[in-house]
Amino acid sequence: MTDLDSFREETWAWLEENCPQSMRSPFRSDKEVCWGGRKWTFQNEDQRLWLERMVDKGWTAPDWPTEYGGGGLSREEHKVLAEEMARIQARPPLNSFGIWMIGPALLKFGSEALKQQHLPPIVRGEIRWCQGYSEPGAGSDLAGLQTRAEDKGDHFTVNGQKIWTSYADKSDWIFALARTNPDVKKQEGISLVLFDMETPGVSTRPIKLISGQSPFCETFLDNVRVEKDQVVGKVDKGWSIAKYLLTHERSMIGNMGSTAAGQKTLPQHAAEVLGLEDGKLADPMLRAEIADWAVEAQAYELTAERVRDQAKAGQGVGNTSAMLKYAGTELNKRRHELMIALYGSDAMIWEGEGWSEQALPQQWARSKGNSIEGGTSEIQLNIIAKNILGLG
Ligand SMILES: Cc1cc2nc3c(=O)[nH]c(=O)nc-3n(C[C@H](O)[C@H](O)[C@H](O)COP(=O)(O)OP(=O)(O)OC[C@H]3O[C@@H](n4cnc5c(N)ncnc54)[C@H](O)[C@@H]3O)c2cc1C
Repeated sequence: MTDLDSFREETWAWLEENCPQSMRSPFRSDKEVCWGGRKWTFQNEDQRLWLERMVDKGWTAPDWPTEYGGGGLSREEHKVLAEEMARIQARPPLNSFGIWMIGPALLKFGSEALKQQHLPPIVRGEIRWCQGYSEPGAGSDLAGLQTRAEDKGDHFTVNGQKIWTSYADKSDWIFALARTNPDVKKQEGISLVLFDMETPGVSTRPIKLISGQSPFCETFLDNVRVEKDQVVGKVDKGWSIAKYLLTHERSMIGNMGSTAAGQKTLPQHAAEVLGLEDGKLADPMLRAEIADWAVEAQAYELTAERVRDQAKAGQGVGNTSAMLKYAGTELNKRRHELMIALYGSDAMIWEGEGWSEQALPQQWARSKGNSIEGGTSEIQLNIIAKNILGLG
């Protein structure tokens, strides 16, 4: 038996013993997702237990180093863990912008003190983070941001406004971009700063959507004191760190369209709704569109897996994240369009749990945001044209 085989066996046995039964099914609504943080209330005892047990193993961040609370797994072991979790349909114990975004940036660019301060609470799900990048006048043109961080000797004073800050009102800390030098080329005077959302001068105002939900906020920064040791990397040199962080965000958003273990795939939904004739979907028009989608979805999954392997082998995701983000989010939008076409008038029920078929219009509307958040599809195409195809 190889080391990997025994790791699989141990992982299988551990999951069997430690993953509560109620945590072994796909999420039925976004209310069932655990985000952690100081303001978090566990929905039930199983959700708390599952998080605590995974935290003890370091498996909320399986490939982070053990000294920061991670699992220290190799890329092969991480893959085995993901496969074994999928086999029993184990839910991710924690959703976290800390793990997906600021953590990887701190691991690569943060001082040892910043890593020690922030990474273990992220792994434990104790601190929830939000992202303060976009501003009313700076979305696609992110480097045009106007939020200022003025040097006051022993600290910075930050003034400005952020917008579309997902879960700002529920988060404990923010990673934000601020201009520390207005007299140089716009990309060269930006710093990535970290501060507690309870710092005096920070306020949030939820933005209400047509769905009635408020997943994001306007965030106002009025003379906010930020300690100098909370700058990631060097002052004025935050732009490349911000872009590195975006590569992680984009890969994560691209994957949001993947079907979770145990969830019905689009072809399975289609087979149930349309029925089969001679082993084929009964509606020839939808059959062609769904087959086309399924082939592309398969190509996406295989490409994403190859890129994940490359990333874990130390090659980084880099500009490929633009490709994954573009393809993954466009596929996700098409999947929702096809689901609406499949269910027809049965899909027109607005109320209901988030991810069940009863709330398809809400999911359909949310999928439109996928190709905007983390950089729009047009911006990803620009990056692909310039940096991958060399057309710029
Ligand atoms: C669901 C969701 C969650 C979000 N969460 C966060 C968050 O947590 N934190 C955060 O900081 N931001 C967040 N955002 C904001 C997001 O990053 C921005 O909306 C996005 O970068 C686009 O910026 P904008 O809205 O200012 O649009 P604009 O930049 O004004 O773009 C408007 C249109 O013009 C097009 N366009 C602009 N420039 C070009 C160009 N050079 N070439 C071709 N087309 C172009 C765009 O593609 C788009 O169609 C979120 C957005 C959404 C939808």
